[in-house]
Amino acid sequence: MVRSPTPPTTPSLDAAQLAGFPVGGEPLAVDLGDTIVTVSDPPTDLLADREACERFWALQHARLPEGWQVPSLSATRELRDAIRQLLDDTLAKVRLDFRALEIVNGVSASVSTTLEASQTNTGLQRVEHWQAADPTALPLAAAARSAIEIVTDTASVERLRRCANPDCSMLFVNGDSRRQWCTPNICGNRARVARHYHRHRPTEADL
Ligand SMILES: [Zn+2]
Repeated sequence: MVRSPTPPTTPSLDAAQLAGFPVGGEPLAVDLGDTIVTVSDPPTDLLADREACERFWALQHARLPEGWQVPSLSATRELRDAIRQLLDDTLAKVRLDFRALEIVNGVSASVSTTLEASQTNTGLQRVEHWQAADPTALPLAAAARSAIEIVTDTASVERLRRCANPDCSMLFVNGDSRRQWCTPNICGNRARVARHYHRHRPTEADL
C-alpha cells in the first residue's frame, strides 16, 4: 500500500522548461497533453525517446503516488494521445472520442485507491492510498484520473484554454481570466513584442 503526497505539488514552469517542456505547472493531464506539438506537420513529439519520458515523469514526481516507477515510452505516449484527444474534444465542444475515453478509463481502473482519515499532531488529514500490482501503472493512473477530473467538471471545462498564439498548440487551465498565453516567456512575450511594434510602428508622417 502506498500513500499519495499531501498536498500534491505541481512542477514550476522554470523546472519544466529546464527539462525541455515549454509548459508546466498545469494539471498533470494537461502537462502530459502538452508533450505533443500539434501545430507542426507532422506533429512534434516532445516525448521523443525513453530519456525524455523519464524527464517528464521525474518532473512530476511531487504529485505522483509514492512508490511509482517510470512507465514505458509506448504506454506513456498511448495515454498522452488519448488524453490530448479528450482535451481537444472538450475544447471543441464535441462528443468525446469513444476509444480515447476507453483508454483513459482503462488506465484509471488499473489501480485502486482508498481514502483514510488520519489523526496527526496537526489534526485530521485526508490520506489516499494507491494500490497497483505494477508500480509503473501509478503515474499513468494519476494522469488518467487528472484527465477525468477535468473533462467531468464544468468549472474546469470552462477554464480549459488553448494558447491564443495561432502558431502554438499548448493547452492550459486558466486561473486568471486575463490569461491568453500558455507561457509568459514564450507566447506571451511574442504577443507583447507584436503589440509594442504595432503601437510604435512608424506612420507616414514620421518618414
Ligand atoms: Zn503558446
